[in-house]
Amino acid sequence: MNRRGGIVLKSKRELSLMRKAGLINAHALAAAVDAVRPGVTTGTVNQAVAVVLRENGAAPAFVGVPGAYPYPAETTISINDELVHGIPGERRLKEGDIVSIDCGTVYEGFVADSALTIGVGEISPDAERLLKVTRQSLFAGIEQMVVGNRTGDASAAIQAHVEKNGFQVVREYTGHGVGRNMHEDPQVPNYGKAGKGVELKPGMTIALEPMVLAGTPQTKVLKDHWTVASQDGKLTAHFEHTVAITENGPWILTGADEDLDEDAWIRYNDYFAGRLVSQHG
Ligand code: MG
Ligand code: MG
Repeated sequence: MNRRGGIVLKSKRELSLMRKAGLINAHALAAAVDAVRPGVTTGTVNQAVAVVLRENGAAPAFVGVPGAYPYPAETTISINDELVHGIPGERRLKEGDIVSIDCGTVYEGFVADSALTIGVGEISPDAERLLKVTRQSLFAGIEQMVVGNRTGDASAAIQAHVEKNGFQVVREYTGHGVGRNMHEDPQVPNYGKAGKGVELKPGMTIALEPMVLAGTPQTKVLKDHWTVASQDGKLTAHFEHTVAITENGPWILTGADEDLDEDAWIRYNDYFAGRLVSQHG
């Protein structure tokens, strides 16, 4: 998933369209969270997302992304040691698995991109801690997404939080600008130095996405040519939000809102806490 344009600043009108894409994406991910339970196939979870996109007049951003062959689904669903780009299908979720769901929505020509990792039923304390640290590292990065900072400030914050908790960040895959294209400049790695990188300006929209490994940072691509897994077989997690830089601070375009029914909203935000800063902009 590598096609890139340059850095594109979005107008207020374009940001509000991106927020609409982000809300649909949030509802789609909430439907995925609802579908996750032991015994369910990853294909069924993907289908729940596809229905929400269709009902909202949105298109999937992931279908047809070029690779060894065009990406075939609305989501990527990656289990346990699988970090990103797992293809949904007949595999059944088991109690104790952790499952990363990544979803991209296109609405009125704009893309929103967001991911989360959740447990299937009861999960181990180690897995729980991995999810918590990865989610916290995303928000540590988002806090740095303010006018005048640099992308390196977000990268460094993510890396510091992950490493102080004994985990590793991926090196080969990065956060990215997002807008009319799913991948625009700048790249925002999950490691880096504060004060380095591109200066953040109002109207920039960036998908921050810490990908975290419990063991060594090395990854491998599986035989299906898409799924990326940890080389050592240890657990991995992935959280992502599309964020706009505004004069009022970071605006989480893929954060949930009150339109989700209350139960769904609470479950979703247990994992995601997007509303905290989704009211800016
Ligand atoms: Mg994504
Ligand atoms: Mg992304």
